[in-house]
Amino acid sequence: MAKRRPLIAANWKMNGLTKDSLSRAKGLVTRVKKLDKANVEVLICPPFTMLHAINQILKGSMIKIGGQDCHYKNFGAYTGDIAPLMLRDAGCKYVILGHSERRSYYNEIDKLVKSKAEIALKSGLKVIICVGENLADRTSKKTKRIIRQQLRNSVPANANASNTVIAYEPIWAIGTGKTATPTQVQDIHYFLRQEIANKLKNIDSDKIRIIYGGSVKPENSQELMAEPDVDGGLIGGASLVVSDFFKIMQNCS
Ligand code: PEP
Repeated sequence: MAKRRPLIAANWKMNGLTKDSLSRAKGLVTRVKKLDKANVEVLICPPFTMLHAINQILKGSMIKIGGQDCHYKNFGAYTGDIAPLMLRDAGCKYVILGHSERRSYYNEIDKLVKSKAEIALKSGLKVIICVGENLADRTSKKTKRIIRQQLRNSVPANANASNTVIAYEPIWAIGTGKTATPTQVQDIHYFLRQEIANKLKNIDSDKIRIIYGGSVKPENSQELMAEPDVDGGLIGGASLVVSDFFKIMQNCS
């Protein structure tokens, strides 16, 4: 099987004001000089208001910048929304879509995630499409059914292995400190890869990256990233601490 270059992506969510965020970005730029970009791809997704300023700091470094969400259209009367082309204009290379916080707090359903992903891809962004079950789904052994449905209904026809990343993020592990075990993660990532091979024929299942998110920390990152179908991580809380996020990158590269 072809070796996939891992992606380590930071989701800063709605955290931080300009001073702290710029200083965090500068700290990361300094540290990543020690890494070989052939071994790991690094992305940070700050709040929208900081994209432009942080992109200036990242210029010349291996770190890419991305958005945490976008609209399903590029222009129009959509107060408060951000278009994929606006993200591109601010320097973004990626956008996170279908994060469980968007799905649960803003009622984003698979169909909407798919529309957003389709236009984001057409606008030249790469997409990170999130899927994941809640605790009740897992307890009642519905995890694979839920994830299969999210995958089939959220990934658009113009997705392929180089423009799309799937993030498996069990909701019960996000921000809770409860990480899925490496065996649980590998089981779902393997399942996702099989599903892609069987149902999403436009995507090369050996090449697409499937990353894990849910309380990843320096202490657990090495064993999670060592699983054969885990191609990196989507990191929330630990990405707000420069030394922790850098350690996770090192453990993955
Ligand atoms: C996330 O929200 O994508 C996430 C994985 O958060 P945390 O790392 O804090 O669990």
